[in-house]
Amino acid sequence: MAGQAAGAAAMAIPPAEVLPRDISAYREGNTGTDYVFRFDSGRSGPAVGVAGLTHGNEICGMTAVTALLDAGIRPERGSLVLWLGNVAAYERLRADDPANQTLHRFVDRDMNRAWGDDVVHGDRDSVEARRVRELLPFVDGLDSLLDIHSTTFCERPFFVGPGLPRNRALADAIGVPPTQVFMRGSQYSGLTMAERGRFGDPGAQATCIAVECGTHLSRAAGLVAQEVVLRFLAHHGILPAGAAPPPAPRGPPARYEIRQVFRPATDGARFARAFAPFEEVSEGEPLVLDGEDVFAAPFDRCTILMPSPRPARGRDMVTLAAPLA
Ligand SMILES: [Zn+2]
Repeated sequence: MAGQAAGAAAMAIPPAEVLPRDISAYREGNTGTDYVFRFDSGRSGPAVGVAGLTHGNEICGMTAVTALLDAGIRPERGSLVLWLGNVAAYERLRADDPANQTLHRFVDRDMNRAWGDDVVHGDRDSVEARRVRELLPFVDGLDSLLDIHSTTFCERPFFVGPGLPRNRALADAIGVPPTQVFMRGSQYSGLTMAERGRFGDPGAQATCIAVECGTHLSRAAGLVAQEVVLRFLAHHGILPAGAAPPPAPRGPPARYEIRQVFRPATDGARFARAFAPFEEVSEGEPLVLDGEDVFAAPFDRCTILMPSPRPARGRDMVTLAAPLA
C-alpha cells in the first residue's frame, strides 16, 4: 500500500528533528569489516559490544556509536566492539525525503529478524543476510551486547528483550531507562540478535538487550542512546576513570511482559483507532481491522507497544504487553 502512514493514518509520524549525515568516514573500521571497530585493552575482562543501525532509520544508534568513536573511548579492561549494522538502509534514508523515514528500516528484510540459522545459511541474496554473516563472528564472541533502537511513535524509552533473569538484572543495573519490556519465549517473526546463540541460551551467561530510545528522528533519542551506552559500559567496568556517568536515579522500574505480537492476515490491515504508546486497553476492545476480521485486545490492561506504520500480511504489526504488578 502506498503512503508512509498507511494503516495507521490517525497516528502521526513525528517530524524529523535530526537528519542522517555522511558516515562514510567510519566505513573502513579497524577490523577488515566495514563499519566495525574492535578495541582490546590487553587486560582480562568482558567482551562488550554496542550495535547501532540494526534498523537503518534508527539513527540514535549511529549517534551513540560515532560519539564513542569520536571521543576515542577505549576499554580499561576486556574488549569493546562497536558497529553500525544496516548502513545500506541508512544510506537510502539519507538519500530520501525525511517524510519517508519509515520506509528505510531495512532494504530486503528486517535485520533484527534475521539471526536464525535458517536465514544465516538459507538466504544467499538479501542485503541483510549478507550483513548478518559479516557481523556474526563479532556477535558470537561477545559476553554482553547493547543493541540500540528507536520507535516510530513512542517517545518514552524502554529496554526490550528476552525475559531471561540475567537480562532483567542487566537492565536493572544500567538503570536508565527505568521501563523494561521483556518477552516470554520467542514471539517475533524471526530470530532477533538477542535470541541468538549464547544470548538466548538459558544455561549460558551472555547478555543482549535492546534499548528503544525514543522516536526515530528525534533529537532526544540520540541523547538517551548516548546516556544508556555510557551506563552500559560503566556497568561492565570498561570505561576509563572520569568517563563514567553519575549513578542512575533509583526507583522501582516499570516492568511489562510481552504477551503477544499480532501479525495480520491481510495487507490492508489497519488500526481500529489511534493508540498512544503504552496505552492500556480493556479486554475485548477492537485493535485491528484485518480484512473481514476484527482483532480485539485479548486480555485486560493490554498495553500497546510498537505499532507498525506499514502493516503487511504476516509481519509484526503491534506488540501487546501486560504490566507486571
Ligand atoms: Zn529497531
